[in-house]
Amino acid sequence: MRILVFQFVPDVRGKPVPRFEPQLGILLSLLERREHQLSLEGLARFDLGKIKAALARALPQLIYADISAVCVAAARRTLEYIEQHEFLPIVTGGSYPTVDPAGCLSLPGVQAVAIGEPDASLVTYLERMKDPAVGQIVSGVWLRDERGTARPELPPLVEDLNSLPFAHRDLFNYSEHIRQTGQVEIATGRGCPQKCAYCVNELVEKLYEGRGVWVRRRSPGNILAELAQLRERFQGVRLVRFLDHAFALDGDWLAQFLMAYKRQCDLPFRCHLRTNAADDDTVRRLAEAGCQFVDVEVLSSGNLIRNEIFEMDLSGEQIRAAFARLTAAGIRSRAIVYLGAPYESEASLAETRALLLELKPDLVDVRPYYPWPGTRARNLCHEQGWLHARGEEQYHEDRVGIDMPACRPDVVATFIRRLRNELPTTLDVPWWRRWSSASRSAWGQVFQRRRL
Ligand code: SF4
Repeated sequence: MRILVFQFVPDVRGKPVPRFEPQLGILLSLLERREHQLSLEGLARFDLGKIKAALARALPQLIYADISAVCVAAARRTLEYIEQHEFLPIVTGGSYPTVDPAGCLSLPGVQAVAIGEPDASLVTYLERMKDPAVGQIVSGVWLRDERGTARPELPPLVEDLNSLPFAHRDLFNYSEHIRQTGQVEIATGRGCPQKCAYCVNELVEKLYEGRGVWVRRRSPGNILAELAQLRERFQGVRLVRFLDHAFALDGDWLAQFLMAYKRQCDLPFRCHLRTNAADDDTVRRLAEAGCQFVDVEVLSSGNLIRNEIFEMDLSGEQIRAAFARLTAAGIRSRAIVYLGAPYESEASLAETRALLLELKPDLVDVRPYYPWPGTRARNLCHEQGWLHARGEEQYHEDRVGIDMPACRPDVVATFIRRLRNELPTTLDVPWWRRWSSASRSAWGQVFQRRRL
């Protein structure tokens, strides 16, 4: 079957779309194995020219829409156009169908919605579509037809991740990505043991309750085989980027993996590090294996927002100790903060700035808080009547997604601009060194003028 895949993903800091995403990449590999002919188009917003060109290129028999939970408006308009002009069957998957399957099933022209991890369910569903005589009810795929709506249960989780194919890359124009960044991205597992209230992880874990182990990891050998294949296929790979938040959360697996990685790959790498896992041993192991850079979710300075609202279970001491260890080990860091979170105030904004100045990360990623659908933090905002009237538009405009009387969106926007101007958002010389050398030279000029 000729399948045109639309990936609806937000425009994040100008990164091109379609954008590599491991779960979608694996699904594309599985579909290719079944000899489906695939095309992929990425859309961050409704773009009629791109949609028409993709349809003309692919001449599809079916549309698969992978919809991010913050791209529902773009998906709705696109699917409406397809329903009115092309009369093609439309099947969806991704984060929006998972958090709101009923809402997704009511988008124009959608006949089926794959919930959660779509690997097995969607492939089976598409096989059954070929033969209308066979019943089409497949675990994990909600359906709407003239007989009504079917909401079958989810299938068990794929526990052996090594049994899945390596993710498809070519359709994401991956050689161009490597040419521009020198980075190859890879996922080492699925699921996360943490339960941060701003993340959709907990909801998906609950959906799969009783259907297998939630936190799963690939074997070191399987990951290294994929990395070897990628280095052979793509010239110019200089850095490996591990995408999982849970990458360093299992000490035994990490020790085993890093030992094998150092022996067999030995490229510098970048990963996520939660500060509750950043003990001496872990940081030392990461540094010895070639970790050059870590992304650290700091989120907010205060205990109220970080621990009571977002339930990150991270103390200020843990965060300070983690950054000190990273600096001592020579690992550069990016601190990620969300501003404008529930119960934010002008005082807590100033405290977050003070914490960043104290931690001295090499890079900061200052994001406006957006209440991601399907999260407990969003439910709280909903109960308090704080959800912004302009919904996901706020996300696409890089603005905070809630509107609290105590800390209006304009106040947050001004503070974000200030922090982005003040602190480093791209990597070069560490900002505090630049700052201190700039101030040294400013003082030097003052003294020189005095001497003259
Ligand atoms: S650590 Fe990351 S993936 Fe895990 S629950 Fe928290 S935000 Fe989600």
